[in-house]
Amino acid sequence: MNVTIRKQQEDGSNIFLSRLMGIIRKPRSQLSVDQPFFNRIERVTAGNYGEVWFRTAGCQWDKRGGCTMCNYGTSPSPSTGAMVESVKQALAAFDQPISELMVSPSGSMLDPVEVPQEARSRIYSLIAAFPTSKVLLETRSEWITEEHLLELCASQPIGRQLAVEIGLESIDPWIRRFCINKGGSIADFVRAAKLAHQHGVEVYANVCLGTAFLSPLEAIEDAVVTVIWALKNGADHAVVFPLHVKPYTLLDTLYQRDAYAPPSLWSLVEVLRRIEPELHSKVEIAWYRSYYDTDTKIHRSPDTCPVCREDVLSQLDQFRANQSTQTITTLSDYACVCHGRWSDSLAANTDGLAKRVEAEYYRLGAEFGLDEWLATDGIGLIDAIRSRSRGIIVA
Ligand code: SF4
Ligand SMILES: [Zn+2]
Repeated sequence: MNVTIRKQQEDGSNIFLSRLMGIIRKPRSQLSVDQPFFNRIERVTAGNYGEVWFRTAGCQWDKRGGCTMCNYGTSPSPSTGAMVESVKQALAAFDQPISELMVSPSGSMLDPVEVPQEARSRIYSLIAAFPTSKVLLETRSEWITEEHLLELCASQPIGRQLAVEIGLESIDPWIRRFCINKGGSIADFVRAAKLAHQHGVEVYANVCLGTAFLSPLEAIEDAVVTVIWALKNGADHAVVFPLHVKPYTLLDTLYQRDAYAPPSLWSLVEVLRRIEPELHSKVEIAWYRSYYDTDTKIHRSPDTCPVCREDVLSQLDQFRANQSTQTITTLSDYACVCHGRWSDSLAANTDGLAKRVEAEYYRLGAEFGLDEWLATDGIGLIDAIRSRSRGIIVA
């Protein structure tokens, strides 16, 4: 195994996907400075969930290629004052009481390069003065450190519940590396969750439904095992995200070539149905609707059919608000032609996953000028992909 491959394995990244994503992202424009923040409200079991996104230079992992489904965007680095002002305006723009407040940059709130120390500390002060019962921050697990947790806890009023939301995505290390390019490790998720709990901070695990290269059935199975594993290994809550097709992502490249479709909302219902009812109160769903204000940010979203779409979405809203097993049962039993068609489609025969991924890598390599790399430096990577078929997973 060459040094590059070994180094890539250490940080969980995949040099092929990182390079490919770099090429796919190249024509991407930077986020408009005219939209420094975005906020929205959803109904959840605790009341109103308010989410604030504020513009930063972007996720550092994205700059190294990033995850195959994500396009949070990049931007000229706003000043500390501008970031703080964005959050201030976003908080002031809420016109209803907020029970749970999520504040998120374009990546990781605890990453000191993305959100410098002074900005974070001033944003914490704004959050501390905002009336709410719970505060959630989104971050990659590697930024969850003793120092960052102490700072967060000290900044907020006593008795306020704090939480960190981590993109676990999949519990399968092979899928994380060869299909998502997640970087980091599952062991680091466990470490971060343990440390967060020592400080009384709750942990949310974000879970993908509809990862690149997976068949609809594989995607369902991957989401289900990930949710269950996460709840048994440090997460207080698991959040299932059915993936949208965003421009300048690998998902979009595959979608444009008919090699990917976003998951059906019936797959989301199926994930919930397969999770034991005792866990439902800990399982949330997110982004089953598109909240994007412009078509340029989204090419295709999870869906059903025009006949049942609004009904299904409003029942998913109900599940978001009540996390009740009864709502899942109602949705699972929902009669629509598209529900039957979706069910039949799960039985479709597909090649083994490793074989499929290898074939796609060669096809994408040829299309994006990475074929030579695959044939030389990439041999170790291809061998690691094949390890799945041999039952020895090298990831
Ligand atoms: S999913 Fe998170 S870690 Fe991955 S590129 Fe997007 S913001 Fe960065
Ligand atoms: Zn339908």
